[in-house]
Amino acid sequence: GSADLECEMLVLGAGPGGYSAAFRSADLGMKTIIVERYATLGGVCLNVGCIPSKALLHVTAVMDESSHLADAGVSFAAPQVDIDKLRAHKEKVVGKLTGGLAGMAKGRKVDIVRGYGHFLDPHHIEVEETTGNGQEKTGAKKVIKFQKCIIAAGSAAVHLPFIPRDPRIVDSTGALELRFVPEKMLVIGGGIIGLEMATVYSTLGAKVDVVEMADALMQGPDRDAVKVWEKLNLSRFDKIMLKTKTVAVDAKDDGLYVKFEGEGAPSEPVKYDMILQAAGRAPNGKKFAADKAGVIVDERGFIPVDAQMRTNVPHIFAIGDLVGQPMLAHKAVHEAHVAAEVAAGQKSAFDVQVIPGVAYTHPEVAWVGYTEDQAKKEGRKVETSKFPWAASGRAIANGADYGFTKLIFDAETHRIIGGAIVGPSAGDMIGEVCLAIEMGCDAVDIGKTIHPHPTLGESIGMAAEIAHGTCTDVP
Ligand code: FAD
Repeated sequence: GSADLECEMLVLGAGPGGYSAAFRSADLGMKTIIVERYATLGGVCLNVGCIPSKALLHVTAVMDESSHLADAGVSFAAPQVDIDKLRAHKEKVVGKLTGGLAGMAKGRKVDIVRGYGHFLDPHHIEVEETTGNGQEKTGAKKVIKFQKCIIAAGSAAVHLPFIPRDPRIVDSTGALELRFVPEKMLVIGGGIIGLEMATVYSTLGAKVDVVEMADALMQGPDRDAVKVWEKLNLSRFDKIMLKTKTVAVDAKDDGLYVKFEGEGAPSEPVKYDMILQAAGRAPNGKKFAADKAGVIVDERGFIPVDAQMRTNVPHIFAIGDLVGQPMLAHKAVHEAHVAAEVAAGQKSAFDVQVIPGVAYTHPEVAWVGYTEDQAKKEGRKVETSKFPWAASGRAIANGADYGFTKLIFDAETHRIIGGAIVGPSAGDMIGEVCLAIEMGCDAVDIGKTIHPHPTLGESIGMAAEIAHGTCTDVP
């Protein structure tokens, strides 16, 4: 058929996966077009995910931190929150980054076609132009012919079917709009996204309940790390309902009445002013007629790919949240580079040993590779060493002596295979553990590396020295 536009590389979706894939494709000499329904580049992560949430979490961390300075002889009046200004601040942060991306696209001559794309066949995509927040269509259509394609259409929040439509019921996107701070808020889902938003709203003054179907909050890291977070955050929550399901929501004028079932369920419905649905995210795989291109999508909506990020159709690649867990921006970016490089004829593969995870709560919890739990389940023999921050000068000086750094080594090879850090800046520090794992370091390699003193980061060196039996700083 005829086409309005042609390109060598078409990238569907402009999240961290999509823009990284497009930029690498252009850098490698391909004429590249991005199709994106939103007005700005950056996808979920920059517009309604990683970045706005961290802009708010930074502000609330400073609020929390300053409230602890009374013991040091400095006290402040209770914070006055101007929600409109806070929202504007968050939007400014997002705008700086999405604007930067637009400049980077322009610099590389990557064309952006605004609209909702769906496949017509293995070499054509039709784009229905969108306006506003990307949901409304103008009716204008364009057909683009492509030689190769990278699908980076991402994921969306799961909405529980029995929950009514109501402006007081939001997903993470709605919560990040920061329209108001409710008196009482329910967070459905005790995962990272739910707990980060609970941290923001509770610091801003909401009383928060969390309901979680599983038997614990924050699945992923070892329980000892989560316990530290829990102990410091208990006062944040009214109720934490574990092994409990939300079964009905009645939206009345005076509030949202929620019924629960399970171990933690109160007998009567509970009234809330806002509900955040954070019960998981689902891939967008079934929303753009992948079948017309012959691309296989599994029943959950994920697109299976090989180590070169190829789908079953050799000239079509898929990356990011769309291809599987963990749904994280740093994974999407690495997969994007592989897909673009393979499309350009380079030998490249997604071949990482570990992908770190971070809860940017107060305090942060970061982990990577094997947990002790996982090693136990798999029957893998490990040695662990834990450096308590109560023995770190800097942690004590910073009022963070509750934290710890834990390293996990293979008992036979003594190589590091995992680690967890809990405390301020844990997410910034976990990268060193990732590098150590990728490089096959053992405890001596890490312990004999001089870390700056006094820093929280030296706790990684200390933990390694404990593992090596040479630590002198801890009794
Ligand atoms: P997305 O970012 O989802 O981008 C997909 C893009 O494709 C979107 O812009 C969408 O509009 C567009 N699109 C989809 N279908 C079409 C179509 N048919 N036509 C046109 N355009 C289309 N990850 C982290 O690593 N760290 C964090 O701190 C973090 N915090 C988060 C906080 C929240 C509240 C949320 C929701 C997520 C967070 N994540 C975080 C996850 C992170 O946002 C995702 O892993 C990441 O955005 C995935 O990138 P992606 O490129 O695969 O897809």
